[in-house]
Parts: sequence; structure tokens; C-alpha cells
Amino acid sequence: MKELPVDEKLAKKLRILADAAKYDASCASSGAPKRKADPDGLGSTTGAGICHAYTPDGRCVSLLKILLTNYCLFDCAYCVNRRSSNVKRAKFSVDEVVTLTIEFYKRNYIEGLFLSSGIIRSPDYTMEQMLLVVKKLRRDHGFRGYVHLKSIPEASPWLIEEAGLWADRLSINLELPTEASLGRLAPEKDGASIEGAMAQMHERILESKQERRHFSPAGQSTQMIVGADDTTDADVLRTSAKLYGHYDMRRVYYSAFSPIPDSSSVLPLKPPPLMRENRLYQADWLLRYYGFDVDEIASGGEKGMLDLEVDPKLAWALKNRHLFPVDVNVAEREMLLRVPGLGARAVDKIVVARKHTTLRLEDVARLTSGLKRARPFLITADHHPQGRLDRLDLRETLVEKPEQLSLFA
Ligand code: SF4
Repeated sequence: MKELPVDEKLAKKLRILADAAKYDASCASSGAPKRKADPDGLGSTTGAGICHAYTPDGRCVSLLKILLTNYCLFDCAYCVNRRSSNVKRAKFSVDEVVTLTIEFYKRNYIEGLFLSSGIIRSPDYTMEQMLLVVKKLRRDHGFRGYVHLKSIPEASPWLIEEAGLWADRLSINLELPTEASLGRLAPEKDGASIEGAMAQMHERILESKQERRHFSPAGQSTQMIVGADDTTDADVLRTSAKLYGHYDMRRVYYSAFSPIPDSSSVLPLKPPPLMRENRLYQADWLLRYYGFDVDEIASGGEKGMLDLEVDPKLAWALKNRHLFPVDVNVAEREMLLRVPGLGARAVDKIVVARKHTTLRLEDVARLTSGLKRARPFLITADHHPQGRLDRLDLRETLVEKPEQLSLFA
């Protein structure tokens, strides 16, 4: 644990407001293992409210991840900070956040700030306070670290617009994937105004790129909670596909609902299986980089839910065995991308390598670590799976242990 460069009063607020921020997944690196809460109550992911995030150029940065306050006027059922929750409350002043950030930054504990907040007085007032933090950091202290601001969608458009001039990344949490879920669990939130704010951010980001101006250069991201109600994976992924398509979202983060202290009685008592979150990340990857659409990976017999036992690409291949085996030496790139065990990078290497040679199984083995899964679906110069695709136990032979899971293949 790092020694905190602050007095006990501020350290106490930090404990409360770092702990309150840990439920927001949208600054954490995707697929990062969930850590247990710090026994001292200081931690979001690495203790003292420090989490890790990736910048657009792929750098992993450590961020001070805190709320400005966990007081809130709203009463979203899934949120530990909701109005009716019985948690300890605290509020930082603008100067306190600035001091903490600068002190942590000077000591190399952090490379930036992730700031979110409960809504106090009004959405505009809250957004103004967050904006003041980043303006003071930049203008008064020449702070050049990374700043991710969680915007308040109900705030006036000009405030969100101004925030983009100072922050590196803005995000707005959609929180729940459908209007019906929002109506049930977050009745004070309005899906239309959340999407309106996302659309506005998207326009500003596009304009600023054309005009070479600074506006949230790292783009926008959002988070959805899964498992707080009976919304299916297909519905979650349809919403993600819309967000990527309409607003050029950089990332949609999926956060498995976890029962919170003093939780609302409308919520389930148990969290969904953690594997559901992993499967959603894998499916999201297939939507963005592998040419799949939602109906191919999350529909049909499973009532819109992803298969928890095998990854979504393998589940699709097992249901579409008539499209395999695929010959690595001649198949289109699009079809190679659909072979379980072959990631996009391996496929690109295969496409280059086969221009110079006829690929054998050992060549493919050198290009992917997922050969065991790929093998029944592939033809190479020296390999044909023969009747293996028709075997009834094929699925059982390919089920992976959780530690073998990969996001990329
Ligand atoms: S507005 Fe945000 S902080 Fe307030 S209850 Fe809803 S999710 Fe929690």
C-alpha cells in the first residue's frame, strides 16, 4: 500500500470515494481480473483508488479513480450510491481533487485521473464542478496527465461540450441495455437523453478531428450492467452494435451486476455467472473485428443467451458445421476469421504466408496458439479432419477450462 500524501480527513474521504467508484468498470482494462475490495477499503483495483486503463495509443496508464461525491439525488436500484442507500457519504471539494491528483502525480503513483460523481443539487451543478476540476488541473497546474471524465447525460449540452475541450476521454454510462430496464431500475434516467448526449459527443469528436481541434481525443466509451434483470445477451449486444455503429463508441464495457450492500429488493440476490461477462466481451469482439452480427452469435435455441460453456465463435462453428472444414490455403479471409482458434492476427499471417508456400499443420501451429480448437475445422496440405466434424462428442472434446480462455481467437 502506498503511503498517502494527505491528512487523515482527506484520506478518509478518499477511502469512501475510491471505494464508491470501484463499481464503474469503464476505466478498467477489458477483461481485467476483478479484485476483491481492499481490506482497508481503499481500493478500486490496485489500492488507494488506483486503476489501470489503456490510452488510444495502447499505453497502459494508472489512474486515480474516484467520485467527486457519492451523495446522489437519483435512486437507481442497482447503485450503491443511490439516494435510499445506507452507505457512508462524502464529498470532495474541487480543490481537494486537484490537490490529490497533483500530489499523486508528482509521486508517480498515477498518470491521470478518472473522475465520476453522484448527482448533487442538479446535473448542471455537478457537471460544472467536475469541469472545474479538470480546468484547474490544466490551467492552474499545467497538468498534462490523462483525464477521463464520466459525463452527466442530463447536464446541459454546452457543459458536456466544454468538458471535451479539457478531458482526454468522456464517457456516459448507458447502465442498462433497454428502455424497459431503465424504466424499471433507474426511473429518473432517460434513455433518450443519454443517447442524445452520446450523439452530441460523437458529432463534436468528428468535427474536431476535421478541424484538428482538441475534443476528447480518446473518444467516448460506455458501460452496461448485465444480470440486474432478465435482459438477454442478444438484447445487450444489439444495443452495443447500435452504439458502435451510430456513435463510433470506442468501447462498451460490460459489468456483471454484483449484489451491493443494502441492495434494493427489486434486484436479484445473486450475481450472474462471471463467465457471462467474459462471453459478452468475446461476442463484442466478434461483432467489431470478425464480421459477425448479433443474430448469428446470440439467438436461437438458447433464448438469446450466449453459451457459457464454449466461446461464441466455437458455439457458432459447432452449430454451422456444414460450413467447415475450411482450407487455409485457399479460403477467403472472412471465412478464416470464423474458424475457432484463429485470431485476426493469425489469419493475416496465414494470408501472407500462403502466398509463398503451401501451408501444413505445423505452419499453422506456429501462427496460432489455438490449434487444438482450430484443428477439427481446418484443412491444410497434410491434414483433413475427415469425419471428426460429425462426431457427437466434438463439443465435449473442445470445452475449455476457464484459464484457457482467449479474447482474440
Ligand atoms: S445517478 Fe449515478 S450515482 Fe446516482 S444513483 Fe444513479 S447510477 Fe448511482
